[in-house]
Amino acid sequence: MGDSDPRGFLTTGREEWPRRPVEERVRDWREVYVPGALLPIVRGQADRCMDCGVPFCHEACPLGNLIPEWNELVARDDWRAASDRLHATNNFPEFTGRLCPAPCEAGCVLAINQPAVTIKNVEVAIADRAWERGYAPPRPPDRLTGRTVAVVGSGPAGLAAAQQLTRVGHTVVVYERDDLAGGLMRYGIPDFKMEKHHLDRRIEQMAAEGTRFRTSVTVGRDVTADELRRRHDALVLATGATAWRELPVEGRELSGVHQAMEYLPHANRACHDPQADPRAPLSATGRHVVIVGGGDTGADCLGTAVRQGAASVSQLDIYPLPAAERDEDAEPWPTYPKVYRLSAAHEEAGALGTAPAADADARLFAASTLRLTGDASGRVREVHLVEVEPEGRRPVPGTERTLPADLVLLALGFTGPAQEDGLIGQLGLDLDERGALRRDSGFATDVPGVYAAGDAARGQSLIVWAIAEGRAAAAAVDRYLTGASRLPAPITADARPMRA
Ligand SMILES: Cc1cc2nc3c(=O)[nH]c(=O)nc-3n(C[C@H](O)[C@H](O)[C@H](O)COP(=O)(O)OP(=O)(O)OC[C@H]3O[C@@H](n4cnc5c(N)ncnc54)[C@H](O)[C@@H]3O)c2cc1C
Ligand code: SF4
Repeated sequence: MGDSDPRGFLTTGREEWPRRPVEERVRDWREVYVPGALLPIVRGQADRCMDCGVPFCHEACPLGNLIPEWNELVARDDWRAASDRLHATNNFPEFTGRLCPAPCEAGCVLAINQPAVTIKNVEVAIADRAWERGYAPPRPPDRLTGRTVAVVGSGPAGLAAAQQLTRVGHTVVVYERDDLAGGLMRYGIPDFKMEKHHLDRRIEQMAAEGTRFRTSVTVGRDVTADELRRRHDALVLATGATAWRELPVEGRELSGVHQAMEYLPHANRACHDPQADPRAPLSATGRHVVIVGGGDTGADCLGTAVRQGAASVSQLDIYPLPAAERDEDAEPWPTYPKVYRLSAAHEEAGALGTAPAADADARLFAASTLRLTGDASGRVREVHLVEVEPEGRRPVPGTERTLPADLVLLALGFTGPAQEDGLIGQLGLDLDERGALRRDSGFATDVPGVYAAGDAARGQSLIVWAIAEGRAAAAAVDRYLTGASRLPAPITADARPMRA
């Protein structure tokens, strides 16, 4: 074991896991980072941690990750202990280490006057090493309780709840309508952000612990809520918020206009299928692509369209170009600020010049879609847009323009859980004013024994929040089934991200 350097933050600058060159990575679907390039730098980076008396990184993380502890352990080269401390609060650190926007780094005390500790990189290095060295074996329960729980949905919330409940001895069955488990991490998030073998490996670990998976089963349709309640002592609804927001403009009905979550699942399947047809209606190959919506889902569409060989790709963001630095009055440290961020997909689009008309990388900011027009066959051909004022979003006169488009992707967010399957109606559950499942602060719905976790009840959120929800809901279910629980509950259902 080595020593850590208490002056590391003074002697070492922030250095992130480097990305592969753009020209190379857009020719494949592999993760964007240089394999093997993190390990040589990560101990020095962990050593930049000041081991603060009040670690705001920990406060900013919904999982309450023990960040200063594992930074110290990595700096001392004690990877096994680091893995134990990391897994004590997070079931799936290889997911968050790759995919989390890292509110912990925005809250890092070092970030007050210099670059934050690369917490997310340290996390993923520990998680990957744990797998390589066998520090994350299956942990089946010592004994079974004889109680059984159905978890509906296998995204990060459902998986975390299932793993926690299995490990304390309940017999858990995860029902998933897709053919493979993983939720949005399977068919929403592209491989270049997280390769699917990370997901497969965790699911194998869970199966070895005793969690049962029933895929291609839509609860509400293939099995009713009543049947599920008869078979199980408790239910956890972790069905996600997959009802998408629409673009109510003229031309929406034209062919070639699709929702992001129609396009991304198709692309996610196609990239694993050597026979996939590049001319399929949902492929971007050779097409002028316009993505409506400036968020992360839009960025995932962008990186995917670039890899599919689109003729051009632009992304429209209704918000103005964010500032480079945080606004200390509106979004002071340690909150998560809205600043200009260059995701891997934006870096690629910028370097390749995919959108000649764009303000920055592929994005047009303060841009609102007026209408879509098509050709005689009913296929979309142009997006008409206008610049809008930052406040009130009124159109700025004289700024109308058009972009060529033969594939338009709508990435405007999600309104709540989908209802076509009938599950919510069969249980007689209410939605709250935001369109999410109503529950109390202990994750319980109005129906005894039925709990709700993740985006379905929180609204569209993040993987780290979904895992925290799954863990906390598992503690509530365990208490319901046994009268007490030693499972940790990192959040209450009404907890929200830190705000000014
Ligand atoms: C394109 C995209 C990219 C994203 N990228 C990131 C990112 O990089 N980082 C990040 O932190 N967050 C990201 N998010 C958000 C993140 O993926 C979600 O917050 C998270 O997955 C929510 O987890 P969940 O378990 O609540 O639901 P989900 O992951 O949505 O999983 C719900 C599951 O329930 C299943 N289901 C629904 N109804 C039924 C039923 N009746 N019967 C059986 N199964 C059912 C669904 O098929 C799905 O598999 C992204 C979201 C999208 C759309
Ligand atoms: S706030 Fe930053 S410097 Fe302080 S303990 Fe957390 S990671 Fe280390």
